[in-house]
Amino acid sequence: MRDPGPPLRPGRRSFLALTGVSTAAFVLGIEAPAFADITATVPADPFGLGVASGDPTPDGVVLWTRLAPDPLAPDGHGGMPRRPVPVHWQVATDERFRNVVRSGVAIASPELAHSVHPEVRGLEPGREYFYRFRAGSEISPVGRTRTAPAPHTMPSELRFAFASCQAWYHGYYTAYEHMVAEDPDLIFFLGDYIYEYAINSSNLWREGVTLPSEHNAMVETLEQFRLRYGLFKSDPLLQAAHATAPWIVTTDDHEVENNYAGDVSSVGIPPEHFLRRRAVGYRAFYEHMPLRSVHRPSGPDLPLYRRLHYGRLAQFDVLDTRQFRDPLPCGEVTGNCPEREDPKRTMLGYEQEAWLYDGLAASDAVWNVLAQSIVMARIDRDLGPGETFSNEQWDGYPAARDRLFAAFRRHQIHNPVVLTGDIHRSVAANLKEDWLDPDSRTVGVELVCTSIASNGDGADTDSYEPIWLGQPHVELYHARRGYVSCRMTPTELTADFRALPYIQRPGAPISTVARFVTEAGNPGLQREG
Ligand code: FE
Ligand code: CA
Repeated sequence: MRDPGPPLRPGRRSFLALTGVSTAAFVLGIEAPAFADITATVPADPFGLGVASGDPTPDGVVLWTRLAPDPLAPDGHGGMPRRPVPVHWQVATDERFRNVVRSGVAIASPELAHSVHPEVRGLEPGREYFYRFRAGSEISPVGRTRTAPAPHTMPSELRFAFASCQAWYHGYYTAYEHMVAEDPDLIFFLGDYIYEYAINSSNLWREGVTLPSEHNAMVETLEQFRLRYGLFKSDPLLQAAHATAPWIVTTDDHEVENNYAGDVSSVGIPPEHFLRRRAVGYRAFYEHMPLRSVHRPSGPDLPLYRRLHYGRLAQFDVLDTRQFRDPLPCGEVTGNCPEREDPKRTMLGYEQEAWLYDGLAASDAVWNVLAQSIVMARIDRDLGPGETFSNEQWDGYPAARDRLFAAFRRHQIHNPVVLTGDIHRSVAANLKEDWLDPDSRTVGVELVCTSIASNGDGADTDSYEPIWLGQPHVELYHARRGYVSCRMTPTELTADFRALPYIQRPGAPISTVARFVTEAGNPGLQREG
């Protein structure tokens, strides 16, 4: 266990007191005198959405904050005046900022909702850092981050958590309180960071909360998306999770619209109109995530898929399973129409597929991890002799899944691990060379996290359990809210499925509902305990 150390929020007083001479320059704006007149006018308490870091490399990380003194301002501007504001940032080796090793200034502009995404370089590999921001005389909370290990080294351990699907209105983010207590090195978020639905008394199940009427509308405009991120990100436990470790994020569908596929809306919005919706959804996503500037969207295009390395321990391929996918076969969310089997169908788009296979072929990692949104294991929803599939998932794109598994085989990829979100259930599955033959080779493992918040308190199981556990390759089905904690070493990957008994009120304890171990070189799930 790592020493938890003193609390992370030294506050403005200690910031001023502890950082000495360099603070004078910092506070007086000497390194950026042109901004001195503007900085005086920053509204009080502009860090209402917290701080974040993400996408660590061996020598750096991207930092994030958005100035929003009034995160729930109905116009989506967060209470900021519509002019640019300089935001100073510092990175230190200690949380009292006695030893500041990097600093700089980023401009928060109204065009990006006063968000900043400064990219820090020149850090040392595999170590902890602390960061904070200043706007005017206002100092942000302190965040902690961690660089990736040096290239080609073999770290002895990586501890990461992954989560998805946080419907703020359906419950409290208690899961994050427990995740923070576990002190992970890294956190993955696999999609549905927001939900676009109107929030009103019928679905506002977070006890003790009321919301004004501007939230009772389907999210469609840029201002509405910004307000929705402001609402979700105003949660202190979510902010604490961002401040405790770097995040690696991808999208699923609700960052734009439920069940969309490429430029095809699930509710029949014509593509040219839908692409405008996608453009503002992607833009608001970028504005609110710790993403580097190379991932800034251009119109309806979000360059999101990317690769991160943890020495030779792990390669993480972060996938985009929405933007480039073919439409659902025959337009059916559930079914088995012949179009499903079309060998040309693609989930990732051919460009992302080629990028993925090339990257896998070049990997020297023990563990090759795909961080993505939707279930890859084949799940036949018809328990009788017929076959029915959820076409939203990889089951709607079986040829694309076959090509991926062929690439695993062709390049002899070591230890494929698929991390998945989307279904709001905890699932663990073996990925099979031949889904219909339980004795066929196991290609890799899939770990599916449940939701952080959705559908209220829920229950341990539900009516879908017989379908999931009816598949010979599925080893776990559990329906409570929570996340997955992993410990990865050069020899094994341990996954703890964590679950909460309730979320509609705060303060739930957490427990581990199942632990699975996968040995390097021996693909497949071994249940422990
Ligand atoms: Fe979801
Ligand atoms: Ca069947």
